[in-house]
Amino acid sequence: MIEKRMVKLLDRYRVTSGKGFRLGNCDPCDTAGLDVEKNHAAELLQKGVDRLSELQDMLYAQDRWSVLCIFQAMDAAGKDGAIKHVFSGVNPQGCQVHSFKAPTPLDLDHDFLWRHSVALPERGRIGIHNRSWYEEVLVVRVHPHILGGEKLPPPVIGKNIWDERLEDIAAYERYLARQGTVVLKFFLNVSKAEQKRRFLARIEEPEKNWKFSAGDVAERAHWDAYMKAYDAAIRATAAPHAPWFVVPADQKWFTRLAVVAAIVEALEALDLHYPKVTKEEKAALEVARKALV
Ligand code: ATP
Ligand code: MG
Repeated sequence: MIEKRMVKLLDRYRVTSGKGFRLGNCDPCDTAGLDVEKNHAAELLQKGVDRLSELQDMLYAQDRWSVLCIFQAMDAAGKDGAIKHVFSGVNPQGCQVHSFKAPTPLDLDHDFLWRHSVALPERGRIGIHNRSWYEEVLVVRVHPHILGGEKLPPPVIGKNIWDERLEDIAAYERYLARQGTVVLKFFLNVSKAEQKRRFLARIEEPEKNWKFSAGDVAERAHWDAYMKAYDAAIRATAAPHAPWFVVPADQKWFTRLAVVAAIVEALEALDLHYPKVTKEEKAALEVARKALV
C-alpha cells in the first residue's frame, strides 16, 4: 500500500466537479503540510515508484483496463521531469508516451480528437500524454487565429465554440471511462514568479541552455489568458470518472510525489490481480512440465 500521508494529500488537489472551482484559489507553493527534506522526499517518491511498478505489472497481465495520464502545464512547470521520475520504474513495454506539438497537415485533415484517439493506450497499458486535446481549448483559445488554420467549415465556428469543445472533451472522456480507460488529468500549477526563475536558469546555466525557447517567453505574456482558459477547462471537464489533479508545481519534489500518489491510488482502486489459472490450465501446465526433457 502507498503511504497514507501521500494518499491523504491528494484530497487537496483532486477536482471531481467544476462547481466552485477556481484556479486562483490553488496555491502553487503548497506542500500539504509535508515538510520533508530532499532525501526524505526521494525515499517517499521511490516508494511510490516501486508500488506503481508492481501495479503496472498486474495491469499488463490482466489486460483489461487502460490508464491515460494527461499532463498539462505552462512552460517550465516540470512536465518532463515529472514524467521522467514518476514512470522511472515502469516497464517500458507497458507504457506509451506521446508529446503533442502543433498539429501536422495530416492531423488537420481530421477532427481535433483524431490524433489523440489513435495514440490512446491499449488495454493493459499506461498512456502518458504530454499535452493533449486540452490544447484545443488552451493555446487555440488564447490565439484564436490558430482556429483559422484548422480547416473547419465556417458554419461550425460559432460564438460558443469553446464551450462546445469542452462539452465534446467531457463527453469523450466519459466514453473512455465507460470503455475501461482510467482518465487522470494533471495540471502542474506553477507560479509566474517560479516560471521566471526557471527561464532565467535556462538562460544562465549552460547545461540548461538547450531547454530555453524564446517562444516560451512570448507565451508568458499571455499568462492571464491561459489561466482563464485553464480555469474554464478544469471547471467544464472535472468529473469523478475523469478527475483533474491541480498539483502545486513550484517545488518539483512535491509535484512528483503528488503525481505518483494519484496514479497509485487510481490503480489500487481497480483491484488488479494476476489472471487466475483454471483447473484445466493447471493440468495443461503439468503436461507441459512433463514434456520438458
Ligand atoms: P518542452 O518545451 O519541454 O520540450 P513542450 O510541450 O512545451 O515541451 P514544445 O515543442 O516546446 O513542447 O511545444 C509544443 C507546442 O505545441 C506548445 O506551444 C503547444 O501549445 C503547441 N500545441 C500543442 N497542441 C497544439 C494544438 N492542438 N494546436 C496548436 N498548438 C499546439
Ligand atoms: Mg516548450
